[in-house]
Amino acid sequence: MPLKKTVLITGLIKMSLDEYFRKRDFSKTPEPCGKVGGELPHRSDEKKIYVVQKHDASHLHYDLRLEKDGVLKSWAIPKEPVTVKGVKRLAIQTEDHPIEYANFEGVIPEGEYGAGTVEIWDKGTFDVEEWGDEKIVVHIHGEKLKGRYCLVRFKKYENGWLFFKA
Ligand code: MN
Repeated sequence: MPLKKTVLITGLIKMSLDEYFRKRDFSKTPEPCGKVGGELPHRSDEKKIYVVQKHDASHLHYDLRLEKDGVLKSWAIPKEPVTVKGVKRLAIQTEDHPIEYANFEGVIPEGEYGAGTVEIWDKGTFDVEEWGDEKIVVHIHGEKLKGRYCLVRFKKYENGWLFFKA
């Protein structure tokens, strides 16, 4: 029975990168192919990965990524994330990305999904205070973002959340 349970959980987690793979042609994009539970070459400890990538695509945005269950949960934020309290940013949840993506910087070629330049805007680790379907509270230890941040569902938009310092 325990084996069966493990297989089921693994199957479910694997499915979560399907959309990531489906959207990309790895013979054309330099983005990492990656896998669920993938590793980073220079990962210093067991702390969970936090990264924001500035993505100069058709619309400039900032991709917030937080490690959970062997993948990077991801949100696209149309404006620069804020370092002070009192400003809420819209954050649209996007497909899960592989762990390896946290180190990615480069140019996604014209014609490919997300075409444009990706650079790391901020990076570090985080601790979870609360992780629910409607509300996520984390303590971010980045260079730019530091402290307690909330993501709360914002149903006015499909896959909408609000991201703010709390
Ligand atoms: Mn993006």
